[in-house]
Amino acid sequence: MTSLMSMSSPIERRKSVAVRVGPVVIGGGAPVVVQSMTNTDTADIAKTVTQVEALARAGSEIVRITVDREESAAAVPAIREALDKKGVGVPLVGDFHYIGHKLLTQYPGCAEALAKYRINPGNVGFREKKDPQFSTMIEVALKYDRPVRIGVNWGSLDQELLTGLMDENARLARPKPAQEVMREALVVSAISSAQRAEALGMGRNKIVLSCKVSAVQDLIGVYTELAKRGDYALHLGLTEAGMGSKGIVASSAAMSILLQQGIGDTIRISLTPEPGGDRTQEVIVAQEILQSMGLRSFTPQVASCPGCGRTTSTFFQELASRIQTHVRERMPTWRKQYVGVETLNLAVMGCIVNGPGESKHANIGISLPGTGEEPVAPVFVDGKKTITLRGTAIAEEFSALVDQYVETHYDKRA
Ligand code: SF4
Repeated sequence: MTSLMSMSSPIERRKSVAVRVGPVVIGGGAPVVVQSMTNTDTADIAKTVTQVEALARAGSEIVRITVDREESAAAVPAIREALDKKGVGVPLVGDFHYIGHKLLTQYPGCAEALAKYRINPGNVGFREKKDPQFSTMIEVALKYDRPVRIGVNWGSLDQELLTGLMDENARLARPKPAQEVMREALVVSAISSAQRAEALGMGRNKIVLSCKVSAVQDLIGVYTELAKRGDYALHLGLTEAGMGSKGIVASSAAMSILLQQGIGDTIRISLTPEPGGDRTQEVIVAQEILQSMGLRSFTPQVASCPGCGRTTSTFFQELASRIQTHVRERMPTWRKQYVGVETLNLAVMGCIVNGPGESKHANIGISLPGTGEEPVAPVFVDGKKTITLRGTAIAEEFSALVDQYVETHYDKRA
């Protein structure tokens, strides 16, 4: 069966230098990497281990942790050890601000346990301290053969650099808008810091760049420019994206446009969790962006219609939800047993209008009866109607057909 997705042209990725972070490769044409960040106090080893494990099990391929003070730096080796004992090998990245140079030199166990260091050029040091403190962090990275992310953020942009560019701009006969100068300052901060790291002996295959802002148009503008000015691997993220649907929509809007242009080698979705909410949501959203764009496959997709006046009972929503849950629950086992099962497409449709058509495009789909229609539910397998379900056990029977499809259509792993 030829689906519409397979007919679309693949996205041509921007050429970037590959950077190895532990076992994970960012850039160089490797699949776009999903990463996340903890929100636990890193000094609390048990809580941090639990959250890193949850993020990794949800699919985060790299996890960043805050290293903000001595207690956090001291905890990092124990966190690494505890994760390894649990069989969670996800690479840890240390997020350093202000005193990273001290923590990395005074806590060699921390420097060793981390797979990458994030350096923020806007707060690595001020005035005459800036260059030596930046150099110290790069020297530690060189000593332990670790890559770095030079992560610029507009909330902590190098103010000396910004002021200098603003002054220069003011002297022009036709000054540019301040917004444009701010974007330029972000890009210059990232590129000039990367060049400085290279001058200190760091290879380009050890440098990832990011320039995070919180407005969609600014993010697109900044990364488009950043992508033009070198082949550094790029980490995409809309910073302070916000809570709930606002954060998800803004991140998706910004990243989709950049990813469609081939820009971005790794992504992180910076969602503000609901109080007590699940941190792994940022991983799921990142995966869903990449999968909906056809860039990667993580889990079977269930297409379902929104329902309308033709679906007056809740049966259709309940079935869509049950199938989604069934697939999510089965996936950890399926993934271990079957090759390529994550590319499975399912459809659960509410009535005869679009039901059979959409179901035919799925690997396996069901078209439920709408109001006033005959109470039968035809099932389509790879575009062909195979069986018609009826009665009260439609959900169980359809779930069993999905299981059977997986068992008979995907090769068993050796
Ligand atoms: S498939 Fe039927 S129930 Fe679903 S939205 Fe379309 S018309 Fe409404």
